[in-house]
Amino acid sequence: MSIPLPFDNSYARLGAPFLASVLPTPVSAPRLVKLNRRLARDLGLDPDALATPEGVAVLAGNAIAGGSEPVATAYAGHQFGSFVPQLGDGRAILLGEILGLDGIRRDIQLKGSGPTPFSRRGDGRAALGPVLREYIVSEAMAALGIPTTRALAAVTTGDLVARETALPGAILTRVAASHIRVGTFQFFAARKDVDGLRRLADHVIARHYPEASASPEPYRALLAGVIARQAALVARWMHVGFIHGVMNTDNMSVAGETIDFGPCAFMDVTNPSTVFSSIDYMGRYAYKNQPGIAHWNLARLAEALLPLLADDPAAAVEIANDALAGFVSAYDDADLAGLRQKLGLLNPREEDSALAYDLLTRMAAQKVDFTLTFRRLSDAAANPEADGARALFAEPEAFDAWAAAWRARLAHEADVGASQAAMRHANPAFIPRNHLVEAALAAAVEAQNFAPFEELVTVLAKPYEDQPDHAALAAPPAQIDAAYQTFCGT
Ligand code: AMP
Ligand code: MG
Repeated sequence: MSIPLPFDNSYARLGAPFLASVLPTPVSAPRLVKLNRRLARDLGLDPDALATPEGVAVLAGNAIAGGSEPVATAYAGHQFGSFVPQLGDGRAILLGEILGLDGIRRDIQLKGSGPTPFSRRGDGRAALGPVLREYIVSEAMAALGIPTTRALAAVTTGDLVARETALPGAILTRVAASHIRVGTFQFFAARKDVDGLRRLADHVIARHYPEASASPEPYRALLAGVIARQAALVARWMHVGFIHGVMNTDNMSVAGETIDFGPCAFMDVTNPSTVFSSIDYMGRYAYKNQPGIAHWNLARLAEALLPLLADDPAAAVEIANDALAGFVSAYDDADLAGLRQKLGLLNPREEDSALAYDLLTRMAAQKVDFTLTFRRLSDAAANPEADGARALFAEPEAFDAWAAAWRARLAHEADVGASQAAMRHANPAFIPRNHLVEAALAAAVEAQNFAPFEELVTVLAKPYEDQPDHAALAAPPAQIDAAYQTFCGT
């Protein structure tokens, strides 16, 4: 007997070659280690029902909920610059779609639920550490107000997964606007399947860009829409020091959400060259490269869409280039708008851009903590005596020179209280710092102690609030670990 869930599956109806039907592989001893009750309610689901043994069986892939049509989706992708014509969900299974209380359709997907026709040599499983990392970081992103997939639940399987060592297995239940990627379009383009490409584009327009269907050139509007959302998204990442880690085209959602949290991390010390991923030898996906890589990935999307943009190939290329040119201005605008918020500059002025980038340059030169500097600046906005930010600089004069210009600029703001409020809402006190995430994962994996994970998730749900009882979680690591690396969640 399994619990029914109110599925309404549109992607499954597309059939092959979009997907392959596949059932999750049962696990030996499912145990619910985290349920996102708030998210469950927002989706119109009953958290208590999900927490019953029948509910947990669904979250572990041991039972199929009524209405579910499990499928693995096909996609291709550029991985570190090299094209792979077929990737697909190798360890994820889409259970179906649910309309939330907000009326928005969302995918419910199990990640780590066993092999699929796209698994290649992989085991289709996930280890507990990476599952908890994705839970922590994706929920932190959501609380920061950044578009992202969500985590509905994490279960341990009772089985071991073979990695460099044997590790406890786990399954994440992931919620997304959809799991359609740039690489999904590349899959059809590589097969020269223009009919499939058009069906995919029509599905994405209906689901994510309904305004494009009213355009005389809907596919051009679709491309422009994806470009605009990605530009805004990556700007948001940059403003909180987030480094995705593996911005392959198969890890870029066309809905504009942050997706596929693998070796992701937030930078502590301001250093634009920061790269965490142990597999990113060349620093391709370093912090500072993210806007350029997003642009590059979107060029791959534009290439894939060429057959839909115009019958004449030269005309199609012109349309694509025109849309891609829009990325640069969209990104720059989003970047500057976000930096203005971070500095409390609510009435835009010409000099804001130079002022903001001057601060970032000084922060990098002085190797200050990115998050803490901006948070302390928020206090300094209303109180010039508050010198917490200044104290972070090894050479405080470097801060003073900039701060004088900032104070002069703030004098043009009508309401310094409003500036400070905006800053406190743009500059988080709490981010998932690497050392905290690692400690929470280690406690869970090595000692079955989920308390640090729970505390972190709870605190990160209110990143813009000072939470004095948890002040230690706002602090940078005592010793900066320059060699910090995260590892792909395989
Ligand atoms: P990722 O680097 O996690 O974005 O994954 C890249 C590709 O490898 C995707 O097609 C995944 O489905 C696949 N993959 C990653 N890990 C596994 C695994 N353990 N078993 C099967 N496929 C996997
Ligand atoms: Mg991926």
